[in-house]
Amino acid sequence: MTVRRVSIFGSTGSIGVNAVDLIARTPDRFQVVALTGGTNVALLAAQARTLQAEVAVTAYPDRLDDLRAALAGSGVAVAAGADALLEVADRPTDWVLSGIVGAAGLPPGLRALRQGATLALANKESLVCAGPLLLSEAARFGARILPVDSEHSAVFQALVGEDIAAVERIVITASGGAFRDWPLERLAGATLAEASSHPNWAMGQRITIDSASMFNKALELIETREYFGVDPGQIETVIHPESLIHALVGFRDGALMAHVGPPDMRHAIGYALNWPDRLDLPVARLDLAAEGPMTFRAPCATRYPALRLAREVMAARGLAGAVFNGAKERALDHFIAGRIGFMDMAAMVAHVLDHADGAGGLAGAITLDNVQGADHMARQAADDWLGSRG
Ligand code: NDP
Ligand code: MG
Repeated sequence: MTVRRVSIFGSTGSIGVNAVDLIARTPDRFQVVALTGGTNVALLAAQARTLQAEVAVTAYPDRLDDLRAALAGSGVAVAAGADALLEVADRPTDWVLSGIVGAAGLPPGLRALRQGATLALANKESLVCAGPLLLSEAARFGARILPVDSEHSAVFQALVGEDIAAVERIVITASGGAFRDWPLERLAGATLAEASSHPNWAMGQRITIDSASMFNKALELIETREYFGVDPGQIETVIHPESLIHALVGFRDGALMAHVGPPDMRHAIGYALNWPDRLDLPVARLDLAAEGPMTFRAPCATRYPALRLAREVMAARGLAGAVFNGAKERALDHFIAGRIGFMDMAAMVAHVLDHADGAGGLAGAITLDNVQGADHMARQAADDWLGSRG
C-alpha cells in the first residue's frame, strides 16, 4: 500500500482529533504534511509531535509565539494566519481532510483542490456556500472531493457501482437533536447548555447546537444537492432517534439501500482517508438484536423552521447558500453570546434571506469574491436586525 501524504485542517477540533487518532493507529499508511488549528495551540503542538508533521499552523497570528515555544526542538515548522493556511494547502499533498468549522474552511479547501489533492470534506459550510465552485475547480484540476459528513458518506457508499440516473430519492436521517421531544412552547426558552448536549453524537459545540435547531440538517440537505446533483424534490429527511441508519438511497426499481452503523465519526473519516480501500477501523460492530427497534417519524415544520429555509435556499440557488450560511453562523454567534433566544436564530436567518432577496443579493455567479461578499453582507444584515430590535 502506498504511503499517503496527508494534511488535516482543523486538527484540534472534534473531527480533527478523530482523524489524528486514526492516522496515529496506521503510521505506515500516512505521512503527515500539515496540521492546522485555531486557538488550541497546546493540542496542535502535541499532535504535530506525535505525528511528526512537517508544519503546524494556527489560524491566529497572536498564537504563533505560543505554538513556536510548544514545538521548540521538535523539527516541526510553524506558521500562523490566513495566508499561512493557504500556503500549506499548496504543499504537495495527496489527501487533505478539512475539519475547519464554518465558511473559513472555504479558501484553504479550494486551494487544496487547485493542487489536485483529494479533499476529504467535513467542512459542509464550504459546499453550502460555494458547491458549484468547489466542484468545477475539482474537475478543472483533476482533484476529487470525498464526503466526511456521516450522511453523505453513507449515500456515497450506497452509490458505489450504481448509476446516479437510477436514483429516485435520497433520504437523510436526523436524530432530531436535543429538543426533539420537548413541548414546543419550551423551545423559545432553551438555554445554551441545554442546546449544547447531543443525545447520540459527540461533536463540536456549534454543530451540536445546529443539530438541536436542525440548521445542521438544513445545511446537509443543501450539501446533498451539491454532492450528488439530484433535484431538491428528490431529497427527503426523516427523524430517526437511534442514529443507526445514516442515510438511505432509493432507486427507480423501488430498492432502498440503507447505511447502518454506530454513531461514530471515525467510520466516515476513516472511509474518506482510506478510500477506495476499506481498512480495519476501530468502530463498534453493531449487535442488532441488542440495539432493539429502529424508529422513524416525520420532522415537525414548526419545531424545525430551518428545514423550510433550506428548501427556499435550494430553490433560489446562486448566492443563497452563502447568505444562508453566513446568517446562520452569525445567528449562532448571537445565541452562544446570549443575545438572542433559541428560536430567534431561525427568525434572524429568515429575515436576512428576505432582506438579501429584496436587495438582489441572492443572485450572482458563485466566485470566491462573490461568496465572501454575500457572507459578509449576511452577517451585517443579521447584526442590523438585532440592533433594530433594541
Ligand atoms: P470544532 O469546533 O470541534 O473544530 C473546528 C476546528 O476548526 C478546530 O480545529 C478549530 O481550531 C478550527 N477553527 C475554528 N475557527 C477557525 C478559523 N477561523 N480558521 C481556521 N480554523 C478554525 O468543529 P467540529 O470538528 O465539530 O466540526 C468541523 C466541521 O466538520 C464542521 O464543518 C462541521 O459541520 C463538520 N462536521 C462535524 C461533525 C462532528 O462529528 N463534529 C460531523 C459532521 C460534520 P481551535 O479549536 O484550535 O480553535
Ligand atoms: Mg451529518
